[in-house]
Amino acid sequence: MTDRMLPTPEAGDLLDLTAEIAERELAPRAAAAEAAGEFPREVFATLGRAGLLALPYPEELGGGGQPYEVYLQVLEELAARWMTVSLGVSVHVLSCFPVVAWGSDDQRDRWLPTMLGGQALGAYCLSEPHCGSDAAALTTRAELVGDRYRVTGTKAWITHAGVADFYNLMVRTGDTGAKGISCLVTPAATPGMAFATPEHKMGMMSSPTAQVILDGAQVPAEDLVGAPGDGFRIAMQALDAGRLGIAACAVGLARGALAEAVGYARERQAFGQAISGFQGLQFMLADMDTQVHAARALLLEAARLKDAGRPFTLPAARAKLLATDVAMRVTTDAVQVLGGAGYTTDFPVERYMREAKVLQIVEGTNQIQRVVIGRALARG
Ligand SMILES: Cc1cc2nc3c(=O)[nH]c(=O)nc-3n(C[C@H](O)[C@H](O)[C@H](O)COP(=O)(O)OP(=O)(O)OC[C@H]3O[C@@H](n4cnc5c(N)ncnc54)[C@H](O)[C@@H]3O)c2cc1C
Repeated sequence: MTDRMLPTPEAGDLLDLTAEIAERELAPRAAAAEAAGEFPREVFATLGRAGLLALPYPEELGGGGQPYEVYLQVLEELAARWMTVSLGVSVHVLSCFPVVAWGSDDQRDRWLPTMLGGQALGAYCLSEPHCGSDAAALTTRAELVGDRYRVTGTKAWITHAGVADFYNLMVRTGDTGAKGISCLVTPAATPGMAFATPEHKMGMMSSPTAQVILDGAQVPAEDLVGAPGDGFRIAMQALDAGRLGIAACAVGLARGALAEAVGYARERQAFGQAISGFQGLQFMLADMDTQVHAARALLLEAARLKDAGRPFTLPAARAKLLATDVAMRVTTDAVQVLGGAGYTTDFPVERYMREAKVLQIVEGTNQIQRVVIGRALARG
């Protein structure tokens, strides 16, 4: 059903390894850990040891040196088993971006060995309680006092808050608007940085999402990434690539839901036959299957443009929009295919449906993706 087209034999081996780890370490544990709200830190350690936490970054910096299209298919494999882990890898890769792409040699030397080596887990702190979509309106303030920034404000909805080892903080060092924003990177043990109680969410209970409270937090000036005022550009560049990660999570989730639905429909008997024999269900499954393939095709098109060094902001917005809307529809339909059983926690499809919803919200809601695409069309 997955019909992979991979650029190298090595990429095939990597995907086989990922699928093996995912089957062994993720699939058997996902449902219980989600019900208990347990963050699987040791799974990330395993993925780090296997080299799966820094795949798209250059080998000379300690990354895996893989094309983005391969990294995205690794995420897809993980997402087909456990969204918390797949989304967590995507957030970690996003969180490494500022130092990889904008860091000084000194920052790269100090930060990248553990970031890309798989020991340190990252968090990306852009959103605030009063502004998510309108990120340029952020108000967390960083004042340079001597050789340190004193940072005060609240970052909201931060994935891995409290469990991450390093935090990218988008902060205001200048005037209002995008040009007054800068990027700091700081370790978990930063004096003056604390974490609120995690949010009670609809899904992804194993993935902690919480506010990061900055109360005069002390960040050395040498941990400013880029120049003062570069922060918004850094954040948006990171999100362009990150959105492809979210799209890959969505494709994997939809694929997992489709597989559950097909498996159940072949087994379940009604009116003297397997329900997969009814044309009404076959049409539904055919639509699900086609949507998954369409979403993957758009995702890979965007990834290949990125890999070729071509502009990919617009293709990434399209891929995020389509793939996450597809994940919502396909997971909802999977619940329908399973009938009453689909509405219980005995089967994973109700969890998949809850997980799909968040993908339409994070890293730019799907309305914001439409804004990006619509503005480009209007500009001509
Ligand atoms: C589980 C989870 C994990 C997250 N992880 C992170 C993280 O790690 N780091 C981080 O920085 N953030 C994170 N977020 C925050 C997420 O990126 C924001 O929730 C998202 O960007 C939307 O912002 P908001 O919630 O403030 O909604 P708002 O911006 O208030 O939007 C509310 C509604 O208005 C719509 N809207 C807003 N502006 C427009 C417009 N111009 N045109 C049309 N419609 C519009 C939105 O689409 C939405 O439907 C996470 C959120 C969740 C739920």
